[in-house]
Amino acid sequence: MSTHYEVLGVSKDATGEEIKKAYRKLARKLHPDVNPGEDASEKFKLVTRAYEVLSDADKRANYDATGNENGNGQTGFGGGGGFGGGFGDIFEQFFGGGGGAQGPASRTQRGRDALITATIDLGDAVAGTVYPLEMETAVTCSTCQGSCCRPGTSPVTCTICHGAGQIQRPVRSFLGQMMTVETCAACRGFGTTIEDPCIDCSGQGRVRERISKQLKIPAGVASGTRIHLANQGEAGPGGGPNGDLYVEIEVRRHKIFERDGVDLHARMNVPMTAAALGADLDLETFDGSQVIEVESGAQSGDTVRLPGLGVPRLRGGKRGDIIVHLHVETPTKVDAAQRELLEQLAKLRGEEFAEGRMENSGGMFSRLRGKLGNLGA
Ligand SMILES: [Zn+2]
Ligand SMILES: [Zn+2]
Repeated sequence: MSTHYEVLGVSKDATGEEIKKAYRKLARKLHPDVNPGEDASEKFKLVTRAYEVLSDADKRANYDATGNENGNGQTGFGGGGGFGGGFGDIFEQFFGGGGGAQGPASRTQRGRDALITATIDLGDAVAGTVYPLEMETAVTCSTCQGSCCRPGTSPVTCTICHGAGQIQRPVRSFLGQMMTVETCAACRGFGTTIEDPCIDCSGQGRVRERISKQLKIPAGVASGTRIHLANQGEAGPGGGPNGDLYVEIEVRRHKIFERDGVDLHARMNVPMTAAALGADLDLETFDGSQVIEVESGAQSGDTVRLPGLGVPRLRGGKRGDIIVHLHVETPTKVDAAQRELLEQLAKLRGEEFAEGRMENSGGMFSRLRGKLGNLGA
């Protein structure tokens, strides 16, 4: 009599995975459904028995030690009843049997959800906008209205499974008779077949199409905000309902404003003279041009706040602010006349001055320069 290893065609030191593989291969070949011969049925019993022992670490160790399954000289086939459960488990594990009869599957399924990105400008995020959405999606076939059939025809009850979508089959085995349930191959489990499929959708009930729609984007959205549009995703197969559509907002960087929550920050360059004398400077905002009042003696780093001109809160309420960060610009090039004026100014202010150049070490100028340098000037 062959050993269990020989029956499965594996070596004595085969791994669990190798044993499983070998069994699966043999079982597919020898299963009574596939191979009704008496000879195959006998072999099937043997390979199943071999697998039952070798796939269980304890039983395998015992078998290896004693050369039989029970360690007492008996083959273990005895009553058979003791291992019927094991057989069922193993069998289900591989072939997904059991579970009992279920109704036929539906051709109609819900469509998938879709996610697309809408990229907008900061101004649109502040004011809200209508965005022209263009997308490729699945829509219900207009020719067959999702029925999958050529207009005027309809699905017919499957002649193989008589509409059940599954075939139950009694299987003779050494355990007695058992039932296997499998999906009907003729109708792929739908219980009906389509004799005359719709040409336009190849019998899918839906087609791919490029569609456009106007999406209302509320004021206050930010990058990462998702707008959920129920039932506006892909149409399902077989006339099934649409999935949902999610639109993720991406807000482009703005050349002047940087957003922080509902506030907008801007940096404004202020000429040295304007900072010294005070000035009104214009700033173009999303609410039109605004006057930024630069007070006399303004310093780099000073801020001017424009309340309520920032981003609205998505769920309503007060808008954020615009915060203008002043940056005093020191001239980098001065002509002779300007230099003369600046030198006079320095003298009037009693500031140190040597050879038309600012001292490089010590003194007020270098301290001042260092300060500007720290501000990233
Ligand atoms: Zn169609
Ligand atoms: Zn069928």
